[in-house]
Amino acid sequence: MPTYFETTLIKSWLEEHPLPWLSYDTEKKKLIVVVDNHLLSTHRSCGTHYMLNAVEGQNFKPGFGVPNNRQWYLDFGIVFHKLVEYYYQNFRKDNFNVNEWAVDLAYQLWMQKELEVYKDHPEYKAILGLKGFSALLLQYAQRYRADNERLRIIATEVSFGKSREVQLFSTPAYEFYLAGRMDVLVDDGYFIMPMDHKTVGTFKRGDPLDRYLNDEGPTGYVYTLTKILPKYVPEELIFKRDCTRILMNLISKAWDVNAPADRFRRLTIYKTQEQLSQYQLRMVLSIEALLRDLITYINHGVACVPRDTSHCTNWYYGKCYFFDVCRQSSEEAMRATLSNGFVQLPVWDTENVSL
Ligand code: SF4
Repeated sequence: MPTYFETTLIKSWLEEHPLPWLSYDTEKKKLIVVVDNHLLSTHRSCGTHYMLNAVEGQNFKPGFGVPNNRQWYLDFGIVFHKLVEYYYQNFRKDNFNVNEWAVDLAYQLWMQKELEVYKDHPEYKAILGLKGFSALLLQYAQRYRADNERLRIIATEVSFGKSREVQLFSTPAYEFYLAGRMDVLVDDGYFIMPMDHKTVGTFKRGDPLDRYLNDEGPTGYVYTLTKILPKYVPEELIFKRDCTRILMNLISKAWDVNAPADRFRRLTIYKTQEQLSQYQLRMVLSIEALLRDLITYINHGVACVPRDTSHCTNWYYGKCYFFDVCRQSSEEAMRATLSNGFVQLPVWDTENVSL
C-alpha cells in the first residue's frame, strides 16, 4: 500500500485533478477507489496508456482518422448493449414492435454513435454494417421471442459502483470498490445469474467459451452477484437458488445460411468460492499497482510510468493510438504531440457510459 506521505501526495494532487474513479472522502478521511474491469484491464495492458487515457482523458482529435480498433469495440458495444437492454425491458409487452426495435431504434443508436466512421473496419465488414446488424437483431428476436424465452428477467441495466455496493478492500487510509454494469439478471428456476451478451466471430473455430473462462470481467460479475442481489430479489429466493454462475449469451457475427439457428449459443461459467476469493485478491493487488504507477506519474511525469511495449503495435488488434506520443525523445516532445493530435475528454466513468 502507498505510504502515509504518498497517500497525502495523491490527496493534494486530486484537489487540482479530480477523477471519477479516485476521490477523497472527507468524512471517512480515506481515499476511495472505484474501478471497473475496463479500467483495470487497461492498466494491466499498459500503465502509460492508463495515465494518458484514464487520468488525463487524452483521446484522438476528431479529424485525425478513424479511432483505433478498441474504440470500435467500445462504441459498437455500447449500441449493442443498449438494444439488448431495451429488448429485455420490453419484449414481453403487448405493444413491443420488433421492427421498430431492430430497424428504427438500431438505426437511431447507430447514427447517434456515428458507427459509419468505422466502415473500413474489419469488424464493421464482418457484421455487414447497419443492415447486417438489423438482420442479426431480427434473428435474435425470432430465436428468443417471448414464447420461446424460458428465462425470467429479474432486472436490466444493473449498475454498481460509486454507491459502494461491492467492496473489495478496506484499510484506515483506503477503500477499494468494484464498479460495473450487468446487462440482464435472470432466473432459470435453478440459478440466478447475470446474463452477459457477447458478439463472437464464429462458432466454427475452437471452443467459443475459451475467451471468457479466464476473463476477469465475467468472474467479477459472479463475485458481485451475491452482494447486490438483496436489492433485486427477496432473501428466501436467494437461498433457494445457486448464485455461482454467469450465463454467456454468445452471438456469432458470421452467418451460415444453411444453419441460421447456429448463430446463438448460451453457455454458463461456474466459479467456486476459492476462485472468487482469489479474484478479490488479484483485484486488490491490481489497484495497488495502479496507485503505485499514479504516484510515479505525479512525481516524475508520464514518460517514467512503466510500459508494456508488447501492446504498442497490438492494442486490442490495432496499433496503440499513443504510439507517436511514446516514441518521442522527451516528456516535452510527448506533450507537444499530445497537444497537436489529441483532445482531452471526460475520463471513462462506468456509471455514466452513454451515447
Ligand atoms: S504506445 Fe505502447 S507504451 Fe505507449 S501507451 Fe501505447 S502500449 Fe503503452
